[in-house]
Amino acid sequence: MILKIVKYPDPVLSRPGEPVNEFDAELRKLADDMFETTYASQGIGLAAPQVGVSKRLTVIDLSVGKEPKDKLVLANPEIIFTEGKQYEEEGCLSFPEIREKVVRHAKVRIRAQDVNGKWFEMDGEELLARCFQHEIDHVDGMLFIFRMSALKRDLNLRKIRKLQREGKW
Ligand SMILES: [Zn+2]
Repeated sequence: MILKIVKYPDPVLSRPGEPVNEFDAELRKLADDMFETTYASQGIGLAAPQVGVSKRLTVIDLSVGKEPKDKLVLANPEIIFTEGKQYEEEGCLSFPEIREKVVRHAKVRIRAQDVNGKWFEMDGEELLARCFQHEIDHVDGMLFIFRMSALKRDLNLRKIRKLQREGKW
């Protein structure tokens, strides 16, 4: 089922998610629906707050549905190691049409639970590292617009307000 993606400034996006405690059929359904929703928008990642569910859950698939082994469900994820810096363009399904360069760590190691509740660690670099950081920010209630320089942030907030006035946001 394709879920509705909430857009900035919906308050659910700025609220830290609740820990995932139940690894049941309902959670598996939510994760499946989040993958379907991500693919329908040609995205590579989506966090539960973006579909209005305030939980520490995110799905990532850099292959956009082409490689089953690339599907990652991260419950209660955290970054446990970082190295270096990268500065590349990012977008966010809760900010349609906004793309901007954001400073991120070049490499990260994360720790998370899979859809069955099993803890695992994983390393990511380049795009995957960026995606981990972007999605883990979401479960903490942090949005990429607040990782931009003040100048870029103000420019984009003005663009959003203009789109809102025109009924296009
Ligand atoms: Zn996002």
